[in-house]
Amino acid sequence: MLSIALAGTLSAGASEVIAHRGNWKTPGAYQNTIAALVASDSTAYYGSEFDVWLTADNQLVVHHDDKAYGTDVMIQDAARADFADVRLPNGEAIPSLANFLAAAQKTRVKLIFELKPHRDAAREREAVSRSIELLKRYGLLERTEFITFSKNALLEFIRLSDRPAYYLNGEMTPAELKEVGAAGADYHHSVFKAHPEWIEECHKLGMKVNAWTVDKDEDIRWCIDNGVDFITTNVPFKVREMIDK
Ligand code: MG
Repeated sequence: MLSIALAGTLSAGASEVIAHRGNWKTPGAYQNTIAALVASDSTAYYGSEFDVWLTADNQLVVHHDDKAYGTDVMIQDAARADFADVRLPNGEAIPSLANFLAAAQKTRVKLIFELKPHRDAAREREAVSRSIELLKRYGLLERTEFITFSKNALLEFIRLSDRPAYYLNGEMTPAELKEVGAAGADYHHSVFKAHPEWIEECHKLGMKVNAWTVDKDEDIRWCIDNGVDFITTNVPFKVREMIDK
């Protein structure tokens, strides 16, 4: 009881919801598709998360796995044409980032842009700069927040844009995140359960706290009660309901 009351005083406000890989459980959608992005375009949700890779021929695409869906084609080693014919379960092609952003222009949800870690640090920095340029071209940079497991990419996002950039990998302390200019910690919820003091430390340092991927009721409840600012989830409707209760 005491810890809950205390946590309430430390949180900046109510938790917000981020749809993990879009609101993809919607009929007709699938993870990281344009349909999932469009389905997440609701004032109920703060943002819609998606994953981005750079192909060997410098095309940015939206996809989670390192291999194109249902194939052994490694996206970072392939040309876009090598997997252009692949269809996702909802019938969409693997979206080019350009097509994805064109669709995003018709939405209002924030874009939670995850750059996947690439094998080669220079290619990864290339992916960061090309991503920022494309977001600018579509007028969407100001609606975008960056997240990444790669410290190299994190530092490059911070160097090249003023937009919030969060680190996903879980091992940096709040003080270390502040030191490099990150917007906060975006860690697996188990990391915050192991280091509950990091939530308050982030807030005291003026940073935000985001937890992923929070789907179970007890974990959602823990995040809400402990002042997590953003809850990234595959069940955004359920998290919204639990926050509003
Ligand atoms: Mg992701």
